[in-house]
This record gives sequence, structure tokens and C-alpha cells, in this order.
Amino acid sequence: MTLPAVPVSQPPVDKFQEFLATRARPQRYTGQQRDLVNHIFEKHHHFDAEGLVDDLKKAGLRISRATVYRTLSKLVEAGMLRRHDIDARAYYEHDYGYPQHDHLICEGCGRMIEFQDARVDEVLEQISRQHGFVIASRSFLARGTCLECNRSRSSKRKLDLI
Ligand SMILES: [Zn+2]
Ligand SMILES: [Zn+2]
Repeated sequence: MTLPAVPVSQPPVDKFQEFLATRARPQRYTGQQRDLVNHIFEKHHHFDAEGLVDDLKKAGLRISRATVYRTLSKLVEAGMLRRHDIDARAYYEHDYGYPQHDHLICEGCGRMIEFQDARVDEVLEQISRQHGFVIASRSFLARGTCLECNRSRSSKRKLDLI
């Protein structure tokens, strides 16, 4: 399940071009990078670099691993992707054209459930105010067991009793 997209003025592929062009040392924007940006922004999900490399192969896109890694970090720098470091692995998801949200992570199957609740922001704002702290970015994450994993666990437990 994904959250409703946020309308944006430019397609991601153009937004990234603008980012590259406005850097101190303007950079080349190759056809490979364009294909990659288009592919990444086709659908919203949480992915890691190796998963993306496999995905590109399946889609018949020939993009080098080095380009994938380099482009991912530039997309984060451009504020277009959000990076989550979970269990020493980097996961990415859209930030550009996608609303701010938080996650529940299942330790059984690795699933990331997204949610949006203004109360989380309120609590964080209150706490920050108490500390005279200014939040630049945030991510709230809870770990546990999802409904499906809970169900299969309890049915296994039932079988053990029989
Ligand atoms: Zn699960
Ligand atoms: Zn997410």
C-alpha cells in the first residue's frame, strides 16, 4: 500500500537535470542516468541498491552498478530520494512527489508499513520545543511483527500443541 502522491511541477527526470546543472561543477547527464531515474520513479517502494541492480537487469536496462550507486547518492543529495539505514543496509524511497511519512518494520518478513499521522509531528514538535531544538529532518520507525507474521506464528504455535 502506498500513500497518495504529492503533485510536483516537474517530472523527476527534469528535476534531477536541474540539480546537476546547478551544482558548482555542472555534471553530465547521461542516457543511462535518465533511464535509471525514470525507472526509480515509476513506482513507490522501499529498495536497496542491490535489489535495484537486479530489477534493472530484469527490465532489460543495461546500467552499470557504479552508475547505480553514484546516482542513488546524488538523488539523495538532490532531496529526491530518502535514505534509511536499517540493520547496516541502506534503503531508498521517493521523497520527491511523495508525502512525509513514518514506518513500521516487520522483523519477520522485512515488510515496511507506511503511515501518516499528524500526532507524531505534534509530539516531536513539542519535545523539540522543550529542548530548544530545531528539527531538520526526521524519521520515526518502530520494529515488530506484522499481522501476517503474527498469524502464521500463532497457527504454528497451535500446530505445536496438537
Ligand atoms: Zn511480517
Ligand atoms: Zn516509506
